[in-house]
Amino acid sequence: MKEESKPVNEEGTASAKLEALLEQSAALHRHLCPRQVLGVRMGLLGGASLQIEVPQQQRKRLFVYMETDGCAADGVSVATGCWVGRRTMRLMDFGKVAATFVDRTSQTALRIRPRNGVRQMAEKHSEDQASRWHSMLSAYQTMSVSELFVVERVSLLDDLEGWISRPSSRVICQNCGEEIINQRQMEVEKELLCRACAGEAYYVINPGKDR
Ligand SMILES: [Zn+2]
Ligand SMILES: [Zn+2]
Repeated sequence: MKEESKPVNEEGTASAKLEALLEQSAALHRHLCPRQVLGVRMGLLGGASLQIEVPQQQRKRLFVYMETDGCAADGVSVATGCWVGRRTMRLMDFGKVAATFVDRTSQTALRIRPRNGVRQMAEKHSEDQASRWHSMLSAYQTMSVSELFVVERVSLLDDLEGWISRPSSRVICQNCGEEIINQRQMEVEKELLCRACAGEAYYVINPGKDR
């Protein structure tokens, strides 16, 4: 990127909004990196494609399935206002810088991912940078959305409204006695169990003892 070049928005013009969002994202991480830039631009594109103003404030119209954690996810969150903590983002840990943006009003879902070979494109786009990393950091801010991303209409196989569920729900696991929120209990042979007790535990208590 030349010194004078500015980040572009979805129409290809200099965008103060992109710059402000990148600043917020960088502040969260104490650094700015290429994946945050991709995340922010994916988030902006998701909002623009669904004609939802982002970052969304109070309303929970926009929902994001995010396919990796880390820097890209925070970029998407800063741009869209969809956060794991607000239950407007769900992490599907596929290890991909990709996300599906859902308009809960129209039930339209768009999956956005970087084009294959986008890294090589970025290097060509800004060859005068100190390193490949710097090339990506710079080029991801200035490349057009069509150079960067593929946007595809998708149908959800996941029950989004069921997943959002009733946040006020509370039941007690009949095996371990721990409280389960958000209707994540399972019914196993007429017992209400937490997912751990139902066989999906990712831990054992006190491994090594009594063994
Ligand atoms: Zn980072
Ligand atoms: Zn339990």
